[in-house]
Amino acid sequence: MRRNGEPKDSLGGRLVLATLGFCFIFTLITIGVRTWSAWQAGLVAMTTELRLIEQVYQRTLSKAIWEMDRESLQTHLASAANVASVGRIVLTIKPENRPPEILERTRAGWTPSTVAPSRHLALTYQPFPGSTEKLGELALYGDERMLWARLHDEIFAIVITQIIQSLLLAGLIMLLFTRSVTVHVQRIARHLAQLTPTNLGRLLELRRKPSRRDELTHLVDGVNELQGNMSNYLKRQQRDEHELAQHRDRLAELVRERTAELEALAAAQQAALTLSNRLIHAPYEEFEHYQLECLRVVAQRLGASHALWYVNGETGSDYRLFLEWHAEQVQPPRSLTQGANEWSFLMAMLEREQMVNFLTHAALAAAITAPASAPFSEIGLEASAFALLKSGGERFGFLVFGKQTAVSEWRPDEQALLAMTAQMLLQSARHKAQLIDVIGTHRELRKVNARLEELSLSDPLTELPNRRHFDKIKAVEFRRAIRSGLSLSLLVCDIDYFKRYNDAYGHAAGDQCLRAVAAAMRSSVGRAGDLVARIGGEEFAVLLPATDEATAHALAERLRLSIIDLAIPHQDSAAAPYVTISIGIALFDHNLIDNFDALFDLADQALYRAKASGRNQVAL
Ligand code: GH3
Ligand code: MG
Ligand code: MG
Repeated sequence: MRRNGEPKDSLGGRLVLATLGFCFIFTLITIGVRTWSAWQAGLVAMTTELRLIEQVYQRTLSKAIWEMDRESLQTHLASAANVASVGRIVLTIKPENRPPEILERTRAGWTPSTVAPSRHLALTYQPFPGSTEKLGELALYGDERMLWARLHDEIFAIVITQIIQSLLLAGLIMLLFTRSVTVHVQRIARHLAQLTPTNLGRLLELRRKPSRRDELTHLVDGVNELQGNMSNYLKRQQRDEHELAQHRDRLAELVRERTAELEALAAAQQAALTLSNRLIHAPYEEFEHYQLECLRVVAQRLGASHALWYVNGETGSDYRLFLEWHAEQVQPPRSLTQGANEWSFLMAMLEREQMVNFLTHAALAAAITAPASAPFSEIGLEASAFALLKSGGERFGFLVFGKQTAVSEWRPDEQALLAMTAQMLLQSARHKAQLIDVIGTHRELRKVNARLEELSLSDPLTELPNRRHFDKIKAVEFRRAIRSGLSLSLLVCDIDYFKRYNDAYGHAAGDQCLRAVAAAMRSSVGRAGDLVARIGGEEFAVLLPATDEATAHALAERLRLSIIDLAIPHQDSAAAPYVTISIGIALFDHNLIDNFDALFDLADQALYRAKASGRNQVAL
């Protein structure tokens, strides 16, 4: 079937051809059957005719034979042979005691046939009742040609009538089919071909009596139902598409909103990161400045007029304003002097949620008591956000960010920024508290260390610098002397017969003596840079930077005399009745000496000489 055109092949035409084919076969069969029955009828008719001839001529022929009427016999035979269906007639006369005589009549062209009927009749005669004489026999043979001729006529009629019948039937069927099916089918096809999504509402109608209910009606109903379904489907699809488009728009909007939200969040994070970095690297002394800067930046980002950091006051029942930033031309805030009870609602909320925000001042006033919210109404706050600064057991108060106008929401990025700010300031407050601790501890440690250093460098008995101290200083001074080219003198002092002193007066008295000698030496050597140290049991060293021989010698003498002046009795000393000292002096000669030990050896040798020379003297 081609769209928008007439069909190439007609259903009606095919039906007609089929009908004709059927009629042809039917005609053939009918002709066969009817021919056979005509043949049978011909046979019957011929038989009947032969029987009729038998009946008609039996008596007349028998009578003629009996009466020997030859003429009449011949006449009857000829007359019987004239009957159309008779092909041959044979009369056999069987007289007594004589040979039979045969009379026969045969139609021209007759041939013996196996299909044409024949009859054989015995001829009898009753001259008087009760006696029957056998006279002969009559044989009648049908003419086969007669049968065929009749059949021929019949067949012609049969074929003609059958053909006419079949043609009429086929024509009728075609007409009926065309009228009742083809036109409607074509109409349906046209209707379907013209269908578009826009004219689905136009229903299919056939031009025939509406009362007709048949397969076409079903087809039309089916088409209309299909149209209805398709139309509904299209409507639903359009509706779905519309809804889908709306959803798509909404989705795009959501994506835009979410992207903006994420961007704002990222910006807030970036800002928080910057602030956090600054706070982390803030110098200790400027912590508060940086914290205030953080409040300012966050407040300005939020569009807040106030950023307040309250901490617990000294009494514990009020809140002190620790840091605050406020925009120009707005009221500055004040400390919250109400009792902590006023704040219990807000604090309980903050303890639970860490952060609480209010869109309007009325909402804040409803959440906490009216007196508690008064300080915020004084400075004209409408929207406000609170964040608790608490970590474990440590509390660092709370933050308030306030705006002069009410808001419809605290956006997620604003809330995130607030949370991050609270965390940052909390950490920085903790950091500061820890730093204060550390610095305190550090100071303590420094003190202790200094004391320890002092102790480690001084001799506990005499409180003079000890050997360790002396060793440190001697190296410094020796290097300095080498660098500067200045002189350096060293005195090595030793108490004379001190063992004996201990033995005579006891060890405690020996200690006392040592302390007195040390004090005297310290007071004798007063110049800054000079060093008196206890370098052994009762041995002392005096290091005199930039001191020449004469000065060193004079100082040594002064030292020796100062000990004598102490007049500590020493009964066992061979040098004097008092405690005395011997002193060896060495001078740093830049040409001869290249290390301090050599200088010390020189002083030691000088001391040895002083001892050897009788003690209580100075040797060079
Ligand atoms: P010399 O005149 O030759 O120096 O004789 P000395 O007895 O002073 O010398 P020696 O080195 O033989 O003895 C030093 C003594 O100093 C031995 C020790 O008992 C005493 N001594 C050392 N340190 C202390 C101390 O801290 N306290 C007391 N009481 N005595 C000490
Ligand atoms: Mg000694
Ligand atoms: Mg001694």
